[in-house]
Amino acid sequence: MPSIDTFAGQQIRKLAEKHRIRQLKSHFQADSLYVEEGNTRLVSFASNDYLALSHHPEVISAGKAALAEYGAGATASRLVAGNYPLYARLEAALAEYKGFGAALVIGSGYLTSLGVIPALAGRGDLILADKLAHACMIDGAKLSGAALRRFKHNDLEDLEALLESYRGKYENCLILTEHVFSMDGDLAPLAEMKALAEKYDAWLLSDDAHSLIPANAKPHIQIGTLSKSLGSYGGYVAASRQVVDYLQSSARSLIFSTGLPPAAVGAALKSLEIAKAEPERARKAIENAAYFTGKPHYSSVVPHIIGGAERAVKAMEKLKKAGFFVLAIRPPTVPQGTARLRFSFTAAHEKSHIDAVLKALSK
Ligand SMILES: *Cc1c(COP(=O)(O)O)cnc(C)c1O
Repeated sequence: MPSIDTFAGQQIRKLAEKHRIRQLKSHFQADSLYVEEGNTRLVSFASNDYLALSHHPEVISAGKAALAEYGAGATASRLVAGNYPLYARLEAALAEYKGFGAALVIGSGYLTSLGVIPALAGRGDLILADKLAHACMIDGAKLSGAALRRFKHNDLEDLEALLESYRGKYENCLILTEHVFSMDGDLAPLAEMKALAEKYDAWLLSDDAHSLIPANAKPHIQIGTLSKSLGSYGGYVAASRQVVDYLQSSARSLIFSTGLPPAAVGAALKSLEIAKAEPERARKAIENAAYFTGKPHYSSVVPHIIGGAERAVKAMEKLKKAGFFVLAIRPPTVPQGTARLRFSFTAAHEKSHIDAVLKALSK
């Protein structure tokens, strides 16, 4: 057997011992509510399609129209010949909606992070990241070559202590957090973090992937995705015109990667128009989460902590038998001992679906 196969086999056994094997199953998403796995139809609490736009007829029509007009692929990097006109419209709409001077669409959310962070920080600079910040930001930070330190989750005192001790030793400093944390559903104190950033001459970057409503306190730079609440695919960064102009000439994941398929940009543009015109979609998704928890809640993500990875997977299987699709999230995605069921609520859920899943969960 070639040694690479022996290696892969050994690694798989190690992962299996830790219950970390990840399986790709075939899912058919017929609409924003149901998912089909094999022959079973399940009510999904696992999608990030918070505003229920991925199957919206107008979004699908806009995607089809873009496909027909501009073709299946962008055929080149945006900076070469892949910058079809829908991009400028989407970027203007994103900047306006998010309340920034400009926006730049880059590959996916993950690629945006990998392009933006190394453009803003490098050797001789400092990056401070929330302990629970998404893997894409940590990967971007590692790629940048800057010194990376983590602060306790949402802990302003710990962040300030790090700024106090280390800021002076580095040239520039970038602080990384999420607006709504993807696995916990809680919010970062952006206003206080921004004040701290400015006190220490640092820059605050927040990842908006799971927020449904633009943040009141704007960070200096925001990254996000077109693949969750907008139900399409792609990533973006929003910041001042000056910063975006710089990123356009320096984010390597923009420069060295092909533009998005036109259907993705056309669909995202239509989704954004609908999200703006129908703010009740975001409200409903968040109200559904609050209805589930039985107390005030400010995002559409709710973790139900189980503890052990194996138990979380068993709970997921049991809910599946009862007709619900809820994801078990295990380490290393979340810290050891905090495996959980991650419930995500969307505008497509009705109270009856939530009552039913609560009943199944109590068993
Ligand atoms: C999903 C996600 C991303 C990545 O976005 P993609 O467009 O799916 O690559 C980045 N950050 C957070 C917090 C996410 O949840």
